[in-house]
Amino acid sequence: MRFIDQDEIELDLPDDWVDTVQAAWAYVESKVVEAEQAIADRAEEKGWGGDELQKKIDVAKSKARKAAISSKGLWSNLSGILAEQSKGKCWYCETNEVRSDNPVDHFRPKGNVAECDEHPGYWWLAFEWKNFRYACTYCNSRRVEVETAGGKQDHFPIFVPPDWNRCAADSNAERPMLLDPIEDGDCKLLTFNDNGEACSVVEDEESEEYKKVNKSIELYHLNHKPTTRERRIIFQKIRSLISNTNKLLEEGVDEKVDAIKSNRKELFRLIRRECKSTKFNTAARLYLMRYKEDNDWVKDILDRA
Ligand SMILES: [Zn+2]
Repeated sequence: MRFIDQDEIELDLPDDWVDTVQAAWAYVESKVVEAEQAIADRAEEKGWGGDELQKKIDVAKSKARKAAISSKGLWSNLSGILAEQSKGKCWYCETNEVRSDNPVDHFRPKGNVAECDEHPGYWWLAFEWKNFRYACTYCNSRRVEVETAGGKQDHFPIFVPPDWNRCAADSNAERPMLLDPIEDGDCKLLTFNDNGEACSVVEDEESEEYKKVNKSIELYHLNHKPTTRERRIIFQKIRSLISNTNKLLEEGVDEKVDAIKSNRKELFRLIRRECKSTKFNTAARLYLMRYKEDNDWVKDILDRA
């Protein structure tokens, strides 16, 4: 997971974004009014009244709202801007293979909340760019593999109390049980072991931090087997580059020699988030950090990348 500075996104928003959002909400509201009217028009003929009528109106309005929000789908308009923040890599897992029609996740799900049956979903945040996260298919959608399963979908677990916000007017200080890439402190709670598996920096299993990390590993499918394998390969590569470079240095080869320069450059690219062709850069950086105490030249790379 990598930290994303939302202030940077705000600078890139299209000039007409506020107007576009306002127009979209006006359209959604018109569809909701239409749906209510359609039920009211049929009420007398059908003999609906009282609670039954109100229930039918509520259901029709909710259905119309969901359909109108989906038909607008404004989040897709920003996928390029969101992707640019991470050079096309998923904000949750840092893969650069974002093969999805709609790689934008609503951190607070817009249609339902899987953990709370009666929650209507955070529909009022459907067009709120601060609620958008650039996500790969494995982090965003439900996938069941032979050994693991995951995908965030409509999940939004929180530590209660306080309760979920269930309408735009609610202002509970929710405490999500999910790591959020826009929170620098959250990104620091995740580390990676020798097997390429994501795990918690905090070891106390009763702590909220530990629970949050483990729920995130599950729902973002961070330990999907092909992913852990790729992280292991990166770790192997780092070990090999370090050992090869140290061997050359011990042999007294001048630091400027091409082989050393090339190894340093490769390590630099592996940990550099801005590098478009490398992935899992945070894991690579954490692996490389293991070697900085004994190797000043490694520390130099970490300081400059
Ligand atoms: Zn991902």
